[in-house]
Amino acid sequence: MDISVVVPLYNEAESLPELVEWIRKVMETNKFSYEIILVDDGSNDSSWEVIESLQKLNAAIRGIKFRRNYGKSAALNVGFASAQGNVVITMDADLQDSPDEIPELYRKITEEKYDLVSGWKKKRHDPLSKTIPTRLFNSATRKMSGIHNLHDFNCGLKAYKRDVVKCIEVYGEMHRYIPVLAKWAGFRKIGEQVVEHRPRKYGTTKFGLSRFINGFLDLLSIFFVGKFGKRPMHFFGSMGVLSFLTGLVMTVWIIAEKLIDIANNVKFRNVTEQPLFFIALVAIIVGFQLFLTGFVAELVSRNASERNSYNIEKTI
Ligand code: UDP
Ligand code: MG
Repeated sequence: MDISVVVPLYNEAESLPELVEWIRKVMETNKFSYEIILVDDGSNDSSWEVIESLQKLNAAIRGIKFRRNYGKSAALNVGFASAQGNVVITMDADLQDSPDEIPELYRKITEEKYDLVSGWKKKRHDPLSKTIPTRLFNSATRKMSGIHNLHDFNCGLKAYKRDVVKCIEVYGEMHRYIPVLAKWAGFRKIGEQVVEHRPRKYGTTKFGLSRFINGFLDLLSIFFVGKFGKRPMHFFGSMGVLSFLTGLVMTVWIIAEKLIDIANNVKFRNVTEQPLFFIALVAIIVGFQLFLTGFVAELVSRNASERNSYNIEKTI
């Protein structure tokens, strides 16, 4: 199969028939073999019924329905897992991304051998309240990730070589950082294509300004993961051990001093009168706590793959 189009959607019933018809036309004109994977992220409108009726008319359509809303990243993740095409294309359901971009994206992956091609919505139909945070977000992501050639990390329209989507795991709010995840997974040829940004035809945006705050927090967290790998124990654990040992050395020092005092018949001073005693105590306690933090973080990161166990209600 040439292309899998993965579409995460949440309450997009009105857009779906038009979107699917448009993708079908592009695929048939270009003679691509394809599938459209519609991932219903727990919609509470009639999206799933629409998907079922569209699927009856076109066998290339597949549907996955979450029992509740898990977020765009989760929807992409299950779409990626079940995609069969050599090239995987992600696209928003709201008709803001144009399926007409598909042939050029496909050509870049198959002929120019890109691992990932990200859409760049150069001309946006957004208010300033959205474009300004978007710019800040993109420049921070560029600097922290070292991917200097991308302008628009958050664009829903992207194309991937099959291997890329099978290697990476998208969870939380990570859908904005897929190029970063791909780079960390070792895929180096990451490119960009200027794409059209169409106004939203039906419904309203599912994301508010809080997405940017969450986005920055995620950026910090993935930066951390990127720096220390998936082994937080190595970071927290070694800091903890260092602090613990420092405290221990101080304690030995205090005891040695005491012994020398006794040997020299100096008047006995209470240890609790020495500031060093308290510093040693704090270092030992903090060291132990840090070590435990590292241990817990390690357990959590090992369980990270379980984030994958979404509650899928139906598939067609
Ligand atoms: N979406 C989703 N789960 C969510 C929120 C959004 O699958 O919890 C889908 C949504 O239906 C759309 C895409 O993600 O297909 C992008 O969302 P939206 O158009 O609201 O974002 P914007 O274009 O405003 O950035
Ligand atoms: Mg949109």
